[in-house]
Amino acid sequence: MRVKIRLNEDKEVVKRVKAGLEQKGGYCPCRLERTEDYKCMCKEFRDQIADPDYEGYCHCMLYYKEK
Ligand code: SF4
Repeated sequence: MRVKIRLNEDKEVVKRVKAGLEQKGGYCPCRLERTEDYKCMCKEFRDQIADPDYEGYCHCMLYYKEK
């Protein structure tokens, strides 16, 4: 199985989320807690990547996983 992960095609979103990540020291900008699970790539997205049936954006919409 080949998984393809790409950035959101909307460069403004990418810019905004990346700025947020920088501000939070690499932790997810869409979440309040700074825990290991929320370090980018967060556990939620890693689980989505591992799920062969999942297609879509990560929570922050920075990345897109294609099937
Ligand atoms: S939701 Fe996206 S941007 Fe946020 S930590 Fe997870 S992978 Fe990174």
